[in-house]
Amino acid sequence: MKFGGTSVGSAERIREAAAIVSEHAKHHEVIVVVSALSKVTDLILGTLTAARSGNAAETEKGLQELRKRHEEVLAELFSGASLANVREAVEATLSRMRDFCSALLLLGSATPQVMDKALPLGERMSAGIFNACLAQSGTRSEFVDSAQVVVTDDNFGDASPDMDATRAKATEVLLPLLRKAIVPVVMGYSGATAERQLSTLGRGGSDYSATIVGAAVDADEVWIWTDVDGVLTADPRVCPDAITLPEITFAEAIELSYYGAKVIHRKAIRPAMERGIPVWIKNTFKPQLRGTKIVASLPLSNHPVKALTAVTDACLVTLTTRRDVHFAEIFGRLFLRLGHEHIDVLFSTQSSSEDSLGLVLREQDTEHVVNAIERLFRTELKHGVLNPVSVHRQVAVIAVLGAGMKGTCGILGRLFSAVARINVSVIAVAQGASELNICFAVDAARANDVLKAVHGEFLGSGASA
Ligand code: ADP
Ligand code: ASP
Ligand code: MG
Repeated sequence: MKFGGTSVGSAERIREAAAIVSEHAKHHEVIVVVSALSKVTDLILGTLTAARSGNAAETEKGLQELRKRHEEVLAELFSGASLANVREAVEATLSRMRDFCSALLLLGSATPQVMDKALPLGERMSAGIFNACLAQSGTRSEFVDSAQVVVTDDNFGDASPDMDATRAKATEVLLPLLRKAIVPVVMGYSGATAERQLSTLGRGGSDYSATIVGAAVDADEVWIWTDVDGVLTADPRVCPDAITLPEITFAEAIELSYYGAKVIHRKAIRPAMERGIPVWIKNTFKPQLRGTKIVASLPLSNHPVKALTAVTDACLVTLTTRRDVHFAEIFGRLFLRLGHEHIDVLFSTQSSSEDSLGLVLREQDTEHVVNAIERLFRTELKHGVLNPVSVHRQVAVIAVLGAGMKGTCGILGRLFSAVARINVSVIAVAQGASELNICFAVDAARANDVLKAVHGEFLGSGASA
């Protein structure tokens, strides 16, 4: 069971989450994975960034805020000896954070490897607090440092697990606790390399921790507790009439998370899928609801479109070649380089008559990609074989998803008519060859309008199948 930031965001929420665990631990073996208290990782990151840029006042403000958030929760949850114990652990973590900040203020820089030593401190505190809360309610539990269990590669800031090594560690550390009817409470978001360097799994990575740990111990199920009723047809913050999907497939969940549906981390599904472990998304605010079950396969529904999502901070990078060159060779070299640099392309379009290639990327990758292109094709750019790279910023990618679209006529017609009715022009389009999704790019400022219009067309209360 993994509890996200809002599910452990306050004393009240932690108490409720611990009650859910205690209840299930009576009849099942449960491993808990926790995120930091809501917004705490942002706060840690902001504080480290302030320290790195030499801003002592902002750094101090961040440190104070961090202490206040945790102190409030401690004071509400505990008293007496148990308060003293948890407070000591939290204080030790806060003082580690302070030491990091002092070092960064002096150094003025930090590599991703250094940042990864401090970023999981929020999970260190929340897991300690959650563990103490379980103990207080009479459930036997133990704090588990993720560095003892999750073994990752050294891609700091966005690490991936070494599943064989993780399986060995999890068997050694977690299974003996379960056998003694003790609930392990594991820090999410983080792990360590084989050389014991701390690492993080990318923002929102506690979901990934949960499926990694679940797969490593061959769990029967992974339950992701969050602040919505399950996976919905769209982000309910944008489309309030979105409805909960009772079941979706691993493939659909992967597409949804890749295209920005924050409810599941973009890499979290794979470890569960590889071992065929169902993943449930459930609401801690309404634990009685069923939630969404993510499974290997489902019969085709009669709704061709199942869900929508958007990456709202994307950009379109266009490369055009002179007409007389063999562009396939140029573009081939480009994709190889992007692969080596671990760049995710959201989608790409190529048309031979224009000799051009459009790459839709996450905004955060733009500089990196443009620099890589300029280095890779220095000679071609210099001799005009390749025209200067053009970058179109502030683009959103809308992904329309559903296995039922395959072979259904008229989906594209309905889709783009709905977009045209709200006067939005489409910048680029791609329909996956699997027909599991259609992606298109629009001006980011109109992304929410487009989502609402397309949701109304296919998934709203008045929509026809
Ligand atoms: P947690 O802190 O529990 O990990 P997140 O904030 O990371 O929670 O993810 C949950 C949020 O994901 C929801 O509050 C919702 O706004 C957002 N979301 C985006 N797309 C979807 C979707 N299709 N279904 C459900 N929630 C979604
Ligand atoms: N606390 C981490 C983050 O905010 C991981 C998570 O919440 O999943 O990115
Ligand atoms: Mg999350």
